[in-house]
Amino acid sequence: MTRAAAKSPMIERILAGPVLIDAHAHVGADAAAFCSGNYPYAITAEDFVLRLDLTGVDYAACFPLVYTAYFSLPDFVHNRFVRSSGDLSPIPYGLENERLCQEIFEAMPAVAERLLPFAFFDPGREPEAQVSALESLVARYPVYGLKSATSYLQSHSTELLRGGRCLLDFAARHNLPVTLHTAVIPGDPWANVFEILKVVRARPDVRFALAHTCRFDRRALDEADSLANCFVDFSAFHIHCKLAQQNHAAVASGPDRFPADYTRHAAAMQAIAEAYPETMLWGSDTPGHQFIGRFVDDRGEEHWMHLTCERRRETDEFRQLPDALRDRIGYRNTVRYLFGQEAVEARA
Ligand SMILES: [Zn+2]
Repeated sequence: MTRAAAKSPMIERILAGPVLIDAHAHVGADAAAFCSGNYPYAITAEDFVLRLDLTGVDYAACFPLVYTAYFSLPDFVHNRFVRSSGDLSPIPYGLENERLCQEIFEAMPAVAERLLPFAFFDPGREPEAQVSALESLVARYPVYGLKSATSYLQSHSTELLRGGRCLLDFAARHNLPVTLHTAVIPGDPWANVFEILKVVRARPDVRFALAHTCRFDRRALDEADSLANCFVDFSAFHIHCKLAQQNHAAVASGPDRFPADYTRHAAAMQAIAEAYPETMLWGSDTPGHQFIGRFVDDRGEEHWMHLTCERRRETDEFRQLPDALRDRIGYRNTVRYLFGQEAVEARA
C-alpha cells in the first residue's frame, strides 16, 4: 500500500467511532516567532501526541505554524514580507508541508495513527506553484486538508476568488476541507471574516472551517450556519473568552457579539454549540491555546497580547458539556467536515 493510500484505513477507523477529534492544532517550528520573542514557537509531533494522551483526545488535525522559509527571516521578524534569497522553500510552505509529513510518516510512524496533517498555503503568492507542490505531496503522503492564516502573511483571503482559485480547485479535486484563520479587528483586511464568507459562498464545492468561533461575531456565525459547506471551529476558545472579558478589539463587541457569559468557558461554548448544532467543531489550537505576541495591523501598529491557558483547560471545559453536544462538536460534525457528508453516509 502506498503512503497516500494509507488514508482509507485511518478514515475507516475514525468513522467506526465515536472518538474525540481535535479539529485545529499545529505541529512544527516557527523560527520567526522564536526570534520575535513570541510564544508558542514550536511543538514536535511526538510532544503533541503526549499532550493528546494527557488530555484524552483520540485524533487531531494538525498544520504547520505560521512562518515559512519562503520569506527572508530577518525581514519577516520585522513584519516585512520579502522573498528569501535562499533556496530552503522556493514556494510558500513548500518546506514546512514536506517537513510535517516527513516527521509524522517517516520519523515517527507511531504518531501517524493519531494525526491528520493539513498542508498550509498562502492564497496570494505563487498559488499555481503551490498547487504543483501540493499535488506531489498528496501523491506521496496522506494529507487530510488545507489551512491558512492570512493575517500573519498579509495576504488577502479573497485572493482565493482570483489568482488563488486554483488552490480551492485543488481542494475540491481531492475532497480536502479548508480551515481559515478569521479576524474582526479593524486593521486586518487579510482574514476579515466577512471577506472569507464571500469566498465560502462562492465555492459551494469546497468545505470550509472558519477558525476561532468567528471571533464571537453573531452575524458571521449566523451566516456560516446558513451555508451547507461552512463549519466554524472553537479553537483557542479559552483565550478568546479572556479577550471578550477585556473587550479587546480582536473579538466582536456590543450587539455584534454572540450573547453568552464569557466568564464561564463551558457555559459560553455550550450556548454557541446549542445555537449552531450542525456547524460547530471542537478544536484546541494547541500549542496556540496560549498566545504571547503581537499582531501588526495594516497601519503598522502593534497589538500585544499576553494570553495564557492551562494545558488541560480546553479539554476540561469541553468535558463539562452534555454528552450529546460533545458527540456533535467533537465527532459527528468533525467527520462531516473532514471527510464529507457522502463519506459519512456511505459508511452508515
Ligand atoms: Zn491555529
